[in-house]
Amino acid sequence: MKKAYIDPNICDRSPFCPAKRVCPTGAITQEVKLFGASTPKVDQNKCIGCGKCAQICPQRAIKMI
Ligand code: SF4
Repeated sequence: MKKAYIDPNICDRSPFCPAKRVCPTGAITQEVKLFGASTPKVDQNKCIGCGKCAQICPQRAIKMI
């Protein structure tokens, strides 16, 4: 099964990352601090490979591999 992979070189680390919202299993988490956010992380054990995050990412930073 394919799983989501976030390319840290493409991700813009927006604290409003829409992929976090659409993930049905809560597999995507991100540390958001006062002065910026980290690259979101995908918990490979929670990802069911639905591809919703890859579809909505405005930077196209998420690949299904
Ligand atoms: S592929 Fe689906 S389950 Fe996996 S991280 Fe993306 S939205 Fe979540």
